[in-house]
Amino acid sequence: MNKNRELHDDLRQAMRQLCARYPDEYWRELDKKEGFPNEFVQAMTEAGYLAALIPEAYGGIGVGVTEASIILEEVHRSGGNAAACHAQMYIMGTLLRHGSEEQKERFLPRIASGELRLQAFGVSEPDAGTDTTSIRTTAVREGDSYRINGQKIWTSRALHSDLMLLLARTTPAGQVKKRTLGLSVFLINLREAVGNGVTIEPIEVMINHHTTQVFFDDLRVPADSLIGEEGLGFRYILDGMNAERILIAAECIGDGYWFIDRATKYANERVVFERPIGQNQGIQFPIAQAYIDVRAADLMRFEAASLFDKGQPCGAEANMCKLLAADASWQAANVTLDTYGGFGFAKEYDVERKFRETRLYQIAPISTNLILSYIGQHILGMPRSF
Ligand SMILES: Cc1cc2nc3c(=O)[nH]c(=O)nc-3n(C[C@H](O)[C@H](O)[C@H](O)COP(=O)(O)OP(=O)(O)OC[C@H]3O[C@@H](n4cnc5c(N)ncnc54)[C@H](O)[C@@H]3O)c2cc1C
Repeated sequence: MNKNRELHDDLRQAMRQLCARYPDEYWRELDKKEGFPNEFVQAMTEAGYLAALIPEAYGGIGVGVTEASIILEEVHRSGGNAAACHAQMYIMGTLLRHGSEEQKERFLPRIASGELRLQAFGVSEPDAGTDTTSIRTTAVREGDSYRINGQKIWTSRALHSDLMLLLARTTPAGQVKKRTLGLSVFLINLREAVGNGVTIEPIEVMINHHTTQVFFDDLRVPADSLIGEEGLGFRYILDGMNAERILIAAECIGDGYWFIDRATKYANERVVFERPIGQNQGIQFPIAQAYIDVRAADLMRFEAASLFDKGQPCGAEANMCKLLAADASWQAANVTLDTYGGFGFAKEYDVERKFRETRLYQIAPISTNLILSYIGQHILGMPRSF
């Protein structure tokens, strides 16, 4: 057995032990009350998992996206949901790769220890979801500060995070050569900002996701909140997106395996017409097909993660693994619901909860259509469609 394989098996075992402390009932109850999984996030922080990608020099564990993806996969495979805390893993890459040494020393060790949570990522706006460069939130430099005005939507976890990574326009779109220029990234201290120019309002959605809209009304932030160079923020955000896609794919793969385990067990146990329903090919084959699809997506996830960790281009693989994994988990969710019949709708089996949760990944953080257009245009060289 190679060394990496052993490390990954140990990591899976450790994650399984941690997740076993948060069984189905824990997540079901939170879903019912729209509660935040504080105990789970605390346990993940204390074990160091949320600092997986932070280098050891800044107090993290300093492993790669491959290992981080195993951590998130296992959360989903156990029946849980990592959405309450996964963003820290990929957002902090922007700070790590583009922040000044002073910013990294000030924030990364405190994020790694759990003293500060960097869980909120403010990019989407009511009129700019897919089309990021048309965001209207502005940050205007005034002496040694920036004045921020605008609105973000779908800013998940803003009420449970100390820090927010914010994308804002610093040069009007009409004054830049390309619309991707003139956008900048800021690290906002939400604890100071709320009540002083920032208001956060929760949005009710079909899953327990703690997402919000955030209003900026003349928020003043120190000029040193800017990450990297003014105007290059879009590039910095894109940089982190491959990691995000691979990690979300891993969550879908975890969901996919969870569904297949449940569907298989139920198909073996449920007796209809005096035989287990799994004896019918109409039940058995769709489960087998869903398993094959999850396994295939899993291979593409490791391919993408391995390229990312070697510092090699992985845009195609990261996008493809996100699409394959999101489709495979959604397929597995449908098959499991069919297998459970009416009981799949009963909350006590958790199938309907996971079904709702895994549906998100067809849309966010990037939709299937946008991945297809990326592959069509950038990988296959067909004309730009928008
Ligand atoms: C629960 C949840 C949590 C989220 N968390 C965050 C977060 O933390 N931070 C954040 O910044 N954002 C977050 N998002 C936002 C998410 O990234 C966006 O919803 C997503 O990017 C799509 O944007 P939109 O909803 O505005 O869709 P739109 O841009 O309005 O698009 C609508 C549909 O049309 C399709 N479409 C658009 N243009 C084309 C085209 N040219 N060709 C084919 N199809 C097209 C899209 O794929 C989509 O399916 C979250 C969303 C949800 C639902």
